[in-house]
Amino acid sequence: MDCVICKHGTTESGLVTVSLSRGNTVIVVKEVPAEVCANCGEYYLSEEVSKKLLSKANAAVASGAEVEILRYAA
Ligand SMILES: [Zn+2]
Repeated sequence: MDCVICKHGTTESGLVTVSLSRGNTVIVVKEVPAEVCANCGEYYLSEEVSKKLLSKANAAVASGAEVEILRYAA
C-alpha cells in the first residue's frame, strides 16, 4: 500500500517496536509485525495486531507495572 504520511513511499512487511502508554504504565512491544514505509519509516498495524497489542497493554496495566517490555509473539 502507499504511505499516507509521506505519500511517496510504499510499505513492506517488517517488524517494529511499538510503545504505548496508559496512565502511569509504559508498554514496549518488540517484534510486532507491521507494514513499514520504505521511505519515512511510518508503520501500519493490522486490526488484529492492534487488538492483540491493546490486550497486552491492558494486562500490563492490570498487573500494576510501570514499564513492561514484551515480545509480540510471547
Ligand atoms: Zn512514508
